[in-house]
Amino acid sequence: MSKPLLEVNNLKKYFPIKSGLLNRTVGHVRAVDDINIAINPGETFGLVGESGSGKSTVGKSIVRLTEKTSGDVIFQGQDLYGLSPQELRKIRPRLQLIFQDPYSSLNPRVRVGDAIGEALIDHGLVPAGEVRERVEEVLASCGLSSYHIDRFPHEFSGGQRQRIGIARALVLNPDLIIADEPVSALDVSIQAQIINLFRHLQETRGLTYLFISHDLSVVEHLCTRIGVMYLGTMMETAPRDELFKNPLHPYTKALLSAVPIPIPKLKRERIVLKGDIPSPANPPAGCKFHTRCPFAVERCKSEAPQFRNMGSDHHVACHLV
Ligand code: SF4
Repeated sequence: MSKPLLEVNNLKKYFPIKSGLLNRTVGHVRAVDDINIAINPGETFGLVGESGSGKSTVGKSIVRLTEKTSGDVIFQGQDLYGLSPQELRKIRPRLQLIFQDPYSSLNPRVRVGDAIGEALIDHGLVPAGEVRERVEEVLASCGLSSYHIDRFPHEFSGGQRQRIGIARALVLNPDLIIADEPVSALDVSIQAQIINLFRHLQETRGLTYLFISHDLSVVEHLCTRIGVMYLGTMMETAPRDELFKNPLHPYTKALLSAVPIPIPKLKRERIVLKGDIPSPANPPAGCKFHTRCPFAVERCKSEAPQFRNMGSDHHVACHLV
């Protein structure tokens, strides 16, 4: 078996809550609370959960856009948090983050070709004379044309802007792309085009993805394995088909019940979860899902379930499974 390209071990990210004149720390928001993920080369791991589950903070902590509280992030055998600034800068092109709204990270006064090419120049990856050719090549692989190179961000549609976001990541020739809700702001028909683009780029370039989404129907089409997060904690992980056929955790079942089935005669019984996701500043004791779980028993209120291997690479944290 190949070694994982990325290993996230016991990752925690707590944000301090400050209060009072002296700005004292009075508590913590436990955005990510002991997460483990291993992603093999060429794999697409889907991380799903409602808004507030901490999945985006996992992505940002991996690339060190936000610094972890504890745990390890091992990429290509190197501990990313143990690297010097120079070593980190050297490895940065190999792992790239794509955001939901690439427009917000594009300078409206900078032409798209320059925005894509600047990272190449910054990292000294190609001689200055070859930057334009490389940008044209990467634009073409993302379904854009060479004449787009001199246009400004506002001249593009939402789908085209996401293609620019992907091109900006791709130009550095990464091994791992972390895509944080990359299609959730797009129309359904455009979503399909962008997902197909992700798939095509993976096939042609051997990319590995961590694909973050609140929508299980989006990750279904792209991911080989899926992890379901709730309130900073992993509730269930399994290979895609296994998770869709045999979901074990009540939270996964509820999320899946909202995914439409393409056969009109078949209908899943919709499980509507009551209430909102609790605050990660004050998570429930025991199983974090117990305040919304239709199957909760007394034990769930005081004892956190272990994350157990159920076989077939299927892991779940629930007392009743
Ligand atoms: Fe529900 Fe209890 Fe299982 Fe948590 S441990 S998911 S509360 S049944």
